[in-house]
Formats: sequence, C-alpha cells, structure tokens
Amino acid sequence: MGVLQAAVGEDDANTAPPVGAAHIEDDYLTVTLLSAGLAGMLSRRRLAAAGQHTGPGDGLLPPAWRLGFSRLWWRCLMEGVPPFENDLNLLAMCTHPLVAWPVPLSLSDEDLQSSLLADGELSPLAEQGARLAGADVEAEWIENRVYEALRRVAEVNGGDDDCAVERIYAVLRRRIIDHPVLTDRELSRWEREFRCVNSSGQTYVRRLVEVAYVPRPAQGKQQYLRCTGCKNTIPDPGAACGTAGCTATTAEQKTANPLAVLFEQHRATRRFVHDPGLVENRIFDALVGDATLDGKVRLTAYPGVDALDLLIEILGTSDDGHPVVLRTWGVDAKDQVSARLLGRSFTWPDSIRCDRRFLVLPMHRARHPGYVGDLTAELEGRVDSVEVVDEERLTRMVKATAREVAR
Ligand SMILES: [Zn+2]
Repeated sequence: MGVLQAAVGEDDANTAPPVGAAHIEDDYLTVTLLSAGLAGMLSRRRLAAAGQHTGPGDGLLPPAWRLGFSRLWWRCLMEGVPPFENDLNLLAMCTHPLVAWPVPLSLSDEDLQSSLLADGELSPLAEQGARLAGADVEAEWIENRVYEALRRVAEVNGGDDDCAVERIYAVLRRRIIDHPVLTDRELSRWEREFRCVNSSGQTYVRRLVEVAYVPRPAQGKQQYLRCTGCKNTIPDPGAACGTAGCTATTAEQKTANPLAVLFEQHRATRRFVHDPGLVENRIFDALVGDATLDGKVRLTAYPGVDALDLLIEILGTSDDGHPVVLRTWGVDAKDQVSARLLGRSFTWPDSIRCDRRFLVLPMHRARHPGYVGDLTAELEGRVDSVEVVDEERLTRMVKATAREVAR
C-alpha cells in the first residue's frame, strides 16, 4: 500500500444507497469501479513523484473509488456482513485475493483468486477493469500514441494507395512485435524503407520509434539476453520472462551492434502492444508456414488498419478457371486475464465483412477451467454470431476447410 496512504482521505459517509443500487449485486461493476479508482490514485502518485501538479481536486479520492466503495459497503450490509470502516480498510483489502474479502463476491473462480493491487501496482485483473472503465490513463496514453504513430507512418508513406497503407501498417506492427530491442543501424534501414519526413525533416518512422522505445547510448557490440519464446529481454539466464502465456524456459544471448544508440521497448509498449500481439503472430506464422496452404489461403494481417487482427480468405477456382474467394473469416485474438470482463468489453467491428467471426484465445487462457464458459456466457445476447475458439483449433479449422473446399 505504502505511498497510496497519502492519497487516502477520511471514511466515506454512506447515508444512501448509490445510484444503480438495484444492480448492486453486479460485483463486476464494483470491481471495475474500484480498479478505476486505484488507477486514478496510482497515476496521481506518479505525477506527484515527478513533481507535477495533479490538477483540480488533488486531495480528493477519485469518484470511481467513492462509488465502488459505496456499492461494496451496501453489498456488505445486504449480506449481513459488517462493512469495512474506511478507505484504508478497503485499500488493505485490495491487496488480498477477492475470495478473502468479507463479502462473498459473484465473480468467476479464476477472478476470485486475484487481488486488485500487487506490489503497489494494479494487478492484471485491476488493469483490465481500469481499462474497461477508461481509467488506466498512462497505459492508454502510451498505447494510443504508439498506434497513432504507426498509422501516421503508414498513411504518409502509403499516400492515396489504401492497400499500401494497410500493408505498411501491418509490416511495422509486426516489426514492433519482433523487435523488443532495436539498434540505430536497424532504424536507419527502416528510414530508407519508409522515407517520408515531417516539417522538421524527421522521418515518421523515427518518430514511431521515439514514442515506442527508450533510447540508450551504446556503441559497438552489446550483448543481452532474451527469452527464446517472446523475445523479451531478461536480466539473467535464470530469470523468467514473465510474459503471459510464454512457455519458453530458455534464454539466448544476442549481440546488437549499434553505432551510438540502442532502443529498448518502453515498458508500456511491451505490455500493451508487444505482448498482446504474440498470439496473433503465432496464428499467422502457423498458417504461413504450412506449404500445403499455398494458393488455397490468403492472409491479411491487421486488415482495415487494425480493425481486426487477421483476415483469412479461403480460395478456390471458379468453373471457368478463375481464382475466387470461397470463405472469408475474421479473427480477433484476445489475451486477457478475466473472461467476464473481456466478454463485457468485446465488440466486433462492422467495417469488415466476414462469413464467420472468431474471437480467438491463446492456449494459456483457453485451457483455464471455466474461462471459455464464462466468456461465452458474457457474450450471449450482447455480441451476435461470434465463435470463441482457441488458437490451435482455429489453425486446424483453416487447414481442414482449405483442404475440403479446394478439392
Ligand atoms: Zn518469454
């Protein structure tokens, strides 16, 4: 808890049930509000640590926290459990798994095992909740700036050619996933490839790297360790990469050879842009790497400039011998800790027409007991005709369908 205490005021007065009390048993909403409140407190703490003003209402607790507090307080009362007394009590509860809270919460078994705070930072569950509430400002800000810079490189270099814009976007999106570390020499090559410059003469691709990476002065051969699976850097050979779903247990030594600068991915880029992209890459690589699909399957990564993660077209031949698209499948891959919160936030973009729509889960999520059931229950009636499958099942389906229709 530590520094958070500084942000905590006196206990809330709970004289009336909060707005929406009729749905007070919706514990996911309560958890989302508390997560949003915690995110607000943490970002104020960071701003204060950086010596910056945190804006009006400095000393007040975030409104989401107050609402979450109030809902939970009433929930305890309704359950006949003595409510916690003040914000400090509730903050202390946030460091414990939700299953240990005094009031029995209606959350999935998996989510009940999570706390909201871990080592003074948002837990993955709280992070997902805060983002659903639009409150994890730092993460969203970095993520949005990276995507914005990516789109800009694609737009200026692709010009009027929409296909070129899409292609450049997909190439660079992939490069960010493939390059947790980048040298100035490599960046120069990228600049020769994507030459457009802004009014200050800087290439847009350099701007992207400045947003997504942190530069470090380094000259000559630099050795570093990286995970053989996700390619994230690790401090020593025995350390785990900590990347969700990465099953690799081995490290490899790499040598970078910068002229003067080595770029390392910003923590937020790694967490919110690099890591979630790994599952998309695995699917793409599993299909591209299968020579039996040549000419039968066409793949488009990030179609519609990231409206979806992958468009899979299964091809055939018309009676008069022309190639035709027989099936169009859309793929949105999601790697999130809470199935219930994912189900509540998931939407399918209307901009791309598909015969079938797939919400694809990485294996480490899909294998969790109850995850798929919780997700589909939450999607039910909210999002129509989206099929939930795991990454391995999807690739099997594509291969089987391509074989079948191409006969
Ligand atoms: Zn890894």
